[in-house]
Amino acid sequence: MENKQKTIAVLTSGGDAPGMNAAIRAVVRTALHRGMRVLGVRRGYNGLINGDMVELNYLSVSDIMHRGGTILYTARCAEFREDAGVEKAKETCIKMGIDGVVVIGGDGSYRGARDLSLKGIPCVGLPGTIDNDISSTEYTIGYDTAMNTVCDMVDRLRDTSQSHDRCSVVEVMGRKAGYIALNTGIACGASVILMPEVPYDLEKDVLDKIRNAHKTGKQHFIVMVAEGVGGVEELAKKIEAATGIETRACVLGHVQRGGAPSLTDRVAATKMGYHAVELLEQGIGNRVVGLQCNEVVDYDILEGLEMVKTIDTNLVRIAEEVSL
Ligand code: ADP
Repeated sequence: MENKQKTIAVLTSGGDAPGMNAAIRAVVRTALHRGMRVLGVRRGYNGLINGDMVELNYLSVSDIMHRGGTILYTARCAEFREDAGVEKAKETCIKMGIDGVVVIGGDGSYRGARDLSLKGIPCVGLPGTIDNDISSTEYTIGYDTAMNTVCDMVDRLRDTSQSHDRCSVVEVMGRKAGYIALNTGIACGASVILMPEVPYDLEKDVLDKIRNAHKTGKQHFIVMVAEGVGGVEELAKKIEAATGIETRACVLGHVQRGGAPSLTDRVAATKMGYHAVELLEQGIGNRVVGLQCNEVVDYDILEGLEMVKTIDTNLVRIAEEVSL
């Protein structure tokens, strides 16, 4: 049988995350090393529908490892949620001779990858999101960098909170998940950590805690709140009214998504990108790649989407006990 050169495509989709470039680089370099062609698709599934893609070589991905964002741009694509959009993407793939697609993104992007795989274009998903909210992996690309950014920002905030005897209520990213809030809350010495997974009582878990610590002499406070809990402005007002401590809210926002990826993110992205190409090389699609106990694993996309990941309740308990 004739051995046709394989062509794979790579795209980034959904919210960006530091380390996506490292993943793109790993995919491109591994594929080229194994004699494949690689097409870089721009702006997520939009590029797959419109044929907005460019051939990548070794040099196309040089000098990007340490850069945040994604050289391929990322976007949401409403058209791809409809069957007609997926069908168009499939036609583009056939026209461009694409034998497989690496999709770097979150849960939503995985659903798209499953739909395209079902139409006969093998797709492999890589977990790219700062929130760490993908159940099929213990770790997502961008998570470590985002937490380090939060830590750096909140350390700065603490300096000024301490100088003014103030309470800072900080909103960090995590719409459905409190992983960033929990870990950065511990790392930044937060007095209170609020996450969507853990219900809380305002009086007992927030106000009493601050009042009691205030009585023992503590003058400044950090309250870490996950985006999914929200309401930081109102919470700040309630804390100030109930405790008499000057309280300000601070929403960290998109700064958490930027910056040079950490070593952990670069290595995780490289390991998982490499594995994605190994799968596509064998013609295996409809898989999502992840890390479990720091080992690379892969699952059927649907199976991966149905998995459940829970917050570390032991870590929640530790955080409660060590906070003042
Ligand atoms: P993330 O991948 O970060 O979770 P989104 O949920 O916004 O981000 O999804 C990114 C893109 O993936 C969407 O704009 C859409 O093109 C595609 N997508 C999301 N959900 C689905 C779905 N249920 N079916 C098909 N495609 C989807």
